[in-house]
Amino acid sequence: MIIIMLGAPGTGKGTVAGILQEKMGIKQVSTGDIFRQNIQDGTELGKIADSYISKGNLVPDDITIDIVRDRLEKDDVKNGVILDGFPRTVVQAEALDRILAENGKKVDLVVNLTTPEEEIIERIVNRRICSNPDCKTIYNLQLNPPKQEGICDKCGHELIQRKDDTAETVKLRINTYMNQTSPLIEYYKKQGNLYEALVSKSINKMGKDVAEDIVKMF
Ligand code: AMP
Repeated sequence: MIIIMLGAPGTGKGTVAGILQEKMGIKQVSTGDIFRQNIQDGTELGKIADSYISKGNLVPDDITIDIVRDRLEKDDVKNGVILDGFPRTVVQAEALDRILAENGKKVDLVVNLTTPEEEIIERIVNRRICSNPDCKTIYNLQLNPPKQEGICDKCGHELIQRKDDTAETVKLRINTYMNQTSPLIEYYKKQGNLYEALVSKSINKMGKDVAEDIVKMF
C-alpha cells in the first residue's frame, strides 16, 4: 500500500501519517524529517538542505528524488509506505510513478489536507515536536498541549520547535506550496486516487479524525 500525504504546511500531514503508521502498520517516511536529521548531524546533505529549508524553499528535485529512491529500497517499506511530504512537485510525482512502476507498484491513495490559512499560521507557531527521533509526536500548545510543559507525554523527551516554524517562514512556505506543490492536486485527481479532507477547528475536524476516517476505508 503506497499512501501519499499532500497538503500545505501545518495542515496535519505528519499527524495523520503518524496515526496511520500506528493503526495500519505501514511505515511513515517524511522527507522533511530526513533533511532535519541530516541538518542535525551536520552532513553535507544537511548543509545543502538547510540553505533551502531556512528560506522556505524546496530542496532541489534531483537531490530529493535520489533520497526517496534509496529510502524506498529499504526492507521496512517493502510492504508499503506513507510518504509524508513527498512528492512536492510534478517532477517528483512523475519520478515517483516511474520508481514504483519499476517495482510493479503504484500510488494507491493520495490524502490531500486543506486548512484555512489563518489557522495554518496559528497552528505552526504553536507546534512543538518530540525531540526523540523514534517518537516525534506532534503537539500544539493551544489545541493539544502536553500534560507537562515542554515534555513529551509518550516518551518523556524534550519538546522542540522547528527552526522553520516561524510566522515569517510559514508565509514563504505557503507561497512555495501554492506555486510548486498545489498542481499535484490536479495530477492525482486525473489518476483517480485523490481523497480530500478539510482539517479545521471551524468544523471540529482535526488530523486524528481524518486518520480515523481513512483507517475505516480499509
Ligand atoms: P516538512 O517537514 O514536510 O514540512 O518539510 C520541511 C522542509 O523540508 C520543506 O519546507 C522543504 O524545504 C523541505 N522538503 C521536505 N520535503 C521536500 C520535498 N519533497 N521536496 C523538496 N523539499 C522538501
